[in-house]
Formats: sequence, C-alpha cells, structure tokens
Amino acid sequence: MSAHRVVIVGGGFGGLQAALRLRRAPVEITLIDRRNFHLFQPLTYQVATGALSPGEVAYPLRAVFKRNRNVRVLLAEADRFDLDRREVVLRSVAGLPAPELVPYDTLVVAGGSHYSYFGHDEWSAHAAEVKSLESALSVRSRILAAFEAAELERDPERRGEWLTFAVVGAGPTGVEMAGQIAELARDTLRGDFRTADPGSGRILLVEAADRVLTGFPPSLSAKAERSLRRLGVTPVLDSTVVDVDETGVTIQHTDGATRRIPARTVVWAAGVTASGLATALAELTGAEQDRAGRVTVEPDLTLPGHPEVFALGDMVCVRGRDGSPITLPGVAPVAMQQGRYAASAVRARLQGRTAPPFRYRDKGNLATIGRAAAVADVKRIKLSGFLAWITWLVVHLFYLVGFQNRLLVLIRWSISFATRGRGARLITDPADAEAPGRPAAHPEPERTFPTVEDAVSRRR
Ligand SMILES: Cc1cc2nc3c(=O)[nH]c(=O)nc-3n(C[C@H](O)[C@H](O)[C@H](O)COP(=O)(O)OP(=O)(O)OC[C@H]3O[C@@H](n4cnc5c(N)ncnc54)[C@H](O)[C@@H]3O)c2cc1C
Repeated sequence: MSAHRVVIVGGGFGGLQAALRLRRAPVEITLIDRRNFHLFQPLTYQVATGALSPGEVAYPLRAVFKRNRNVRVLLAEADRFDLDRREVVLRSVAGLPAPELVPYDTLVVAGGSHYSYFGHDEWSAHAAEVKSLESALSVRSRILAAFEAAELERDPERRGEWLTFAVVGAGPTGVEMAGQIAELARDTLRGDFRTADPGSGRILLVEAADRVLTGFPPSLSAKAERSLRRLGVTPVLDSTVVDVDETGVTIQHTDGATRRIPARTVVWAAGVTASGLATALAELTGAEQDRAGRVTVEPDLTLPGHPEVFALGDMVCVRGRDGSPITLPGVAPVAMQQGRYAASAVRARLQGRTAPPFRYRDKGNLATIGRAAAVADVKRIKLSGFLAWITWLVVHLFYLVGFQNRLLVLIRWSISFATRGRGARLITDPADAEAPGRPAAHPEPERTFPTVEDAVSRRR
C-alpha cells in the first residue's frame, strides 16, 4: 500500500511546523511554497532598516528537509483546489516548470495574510509594507534614498519633507519600525551627511486608536509611548489615514478635522487581509469568511464537510464551542501551534484515533521599541525596559530557523548594540533610489475587504 500523501501549501510558520512534526510519520509530504525559503517575518523590519541582511531572516526550505527523504519541496504557487478529486492545481513561479497538479490524501493550507490598504490598493504604491522580503528591501531603499535626497535638496521645506517618515499603524510592527527609523536617523547616520542633519528627521506614528500597542495592557502602552518619544518618535493618535500620495499622507482626527502631513516616506503597518486561498476554500466548502477574509474552520481546523482538509494560521478563524467563530491574534505562535496540531491530528487518524479540538495556549505578547527598550506581557507578568528587551531577544533567536542564522543575528545584534551601527545600509533597488515614491518592485495585495472605517488599529 502506498504511503498517505500529505500536501502542505505554505512554508511559513504554520506550514513549516506541520511538515516538521510529520516528517518522521509514515507519510509522504509535499510542501508547496511560492518562495524557496521560510521567512521569519518578525524580523523583516530589521532588514528594512539595514540592521539585518535578507539571508539572516530567511532559510531555504530545501535545507530544512535535506535529510527527510519523504519530504518533497515544490517551488510553485497553489492556484486552486479540486476538493472532489483531491488535487491542488499549481501555477508556475517566475516561469519555472511546475507540475500542473498534485494529488493528496490530506491537505493542509497555510497561506498566511497580506497587508490591506482599507479598500485603497492604490496607496500601496506610496506606502510600502515590510511583510515580504522584497517589500522590506524596497522600504530599505526608500528610507535610505530619502536621506540621500535630503542631502541634495537645497530648499529647506522640501528637505524637511524628505526627512519626514510616517509609519501607519501602531501595532507591534509599526512601533518597531518607527523605533528603528528613529535610531537609524539619530544614531547610525549621525555624521554621515554634510548638508542634511538626519537627526532632525521627524518620525510620525499614525494610529486610529487612542494609544499605541492596543493588544497590550494600557500601562504597557503608556510605557511604550514614553520610550518612543524618548527615541524621537511622535505618536499621532486618534487619527485615521484617509489618503496617501507621493508627497505625504492625509489624516482625519476622531473629531472630524483633517490634516495633511508632507512626508516622502510612508511605511504601512496597519490592517491585514487573509490570503486569497481562504476565499478559495470558503467558496468550495460554504465556510463563512469574516471581514478580513479569514475562513472559519471547525474546532479541529478542518473545513466543513472536508475532514481531510486543514486550514490554519493567519488565514483562519476557528469555530468555538458555542459555534461562533473565534479570531485568534495574527501572530506566529498561533500559526505554529495550529501547524503542530494539524500534524498530530493526521498522526492520530493514521492510528485510528481522533484528536481533541484545537486549543490555543497564549504565551504572551512581546514588542520591542528600540535599543534595550521593549514591553512584554507574559502570563500576566508585565515587563518593560531592558528585561523585556532581553526576553524579546531570546525568544526571537530561539524561533529563528537555522543555527547559522541564529549565530549571525546574535553577532550582528551584539555589534549593533556596541557600535549603534547597521551593516546593511544598502540602496539595492535603483528604481526606488531614483524615485522613492514609486511603486514597490513586488506589490503584494491580492484582494481587500476592510474599508477606511475598519482602520481602528488591528494587531498587525
Ligand atoms: C512585519 C511583521 C512582523 C511580525 N512580527 C511578529 C512578531 O514579532 N511576533 C509574532 O508572533 N508574529 C509576528 N508577525 C505575524 C506572523 O509573522 C504571522 O502571524 C505568521 O507569519 C502567520 O503564519 P502563517 O503560517 O499563517 O503565514 P506565513 O508565515 O505568512 O506563511 C505563508 C506562506 O504561504 C506561502 N504562500 C502564500 N500563498 C501561497 C500560494 N498560493 N502558493 C504557495 N505558497 C503560498 C507564502 O509564501 C508563505 O511562505 C509579524 C508579521 C509581520 C508581517
């Protein structure tokens, strides 16, 4: 009898864990991803600000499964699913040859999410995000090119525009991003320029809610805000972005007043929308979708009427005991626990058992603000400052994939801590260098659900 065929779509946090937990089971695994690497998204903002290099936050999927003969990695895009025939229909990536379809006995879909622009996809041309490696590199080029433009600009007003950076969304990513730009401007670039003073740059953090880090207790939000201000970041609270163009953002305060902020560099870190694969599964199975496009899976993470199809991570809500969908936070631990759960459910089935429903174990929340400054809310223990920062560091190093990457990142961070330097300050995209306001080389959005009214701070 041939081995049970498990097809996993997505080698991100959820899909990778599912494959890792199944690699020693009597199954044949096909892991499909449109990238040939696993990306550690929690550190892409450090690539965007020159603190880390791309290879340090990404790891080739083939290398992960080098020794597991029963795991096949396919560089291809899952285009659609034929649930009756139990096949995944593929699309080639970058013109590379790929099989047209892959049959499965069990399917695990973990396609993740992407940033949504509240119904204004055109804003993505001017407000890049840091979710993919390509977009993080594009943001890096734009930020560094803005300092170069300021150096060349003679008109003080226009120079001020180049030296103004607006980060939209004060969730952990926005806070981390704003903090890093401030450190880059105030510390790393100090003395690098002759005409422009990077330290005079304005870094604005625009947030629709009345505090930063709304996923944290108010006391930690207040501490994070104080740390941000110390770094030179100005939180602009109670304000929703209503327009973005090449030369700035327009914001609307909760009292209705609108204001335009001239800023040549805008970084988007606001709401997210589920992968289009969630919609594909919802349409095929009749499962519900929420406003952010997440498909609702059963308590065992399977699709209604299809116990052989699991979906997990950022692209799902899970049906609770009372039947209503529960939206878990869009964070890596949720996806990882769900990936491990799907693997154990498959193993249980192969042994003729049924796994109990999925239960999320919340291990807490962490966000870093800058050098030796972070906040942590771990099992009701609230930490801030240096201790929280060390916790953040250890956790991120622990979960980074690949021993070499862990070592390299540790060395990089140690050097940066000692010197305040950033070794990867390269403008690699000439298109962005010529015109920092131009569209990112690899725009991501597939579809968007939320509207401007939904702007009230989502997690990431
Ligand atoms: C900038 C940023 C910072 C973050 N920081 C943190 C943090 O500090 N802590 C934390 O816990 N969480 C953080 N998160 C959230 C965390 O990264 C996500 O919750 C997590 O990645 C979700 O895992 P996933 O497996 O659902 O999706 P992902 O990890 O996004 O993986 C999805 C995978 O599917 C692949 N894929 C998508 N569609 C297809 C297709 N059609 N065919 C083939 N492959 C496909 C993608 O290439 C990708 O590899 C951050 C997110 C971002 C964007």
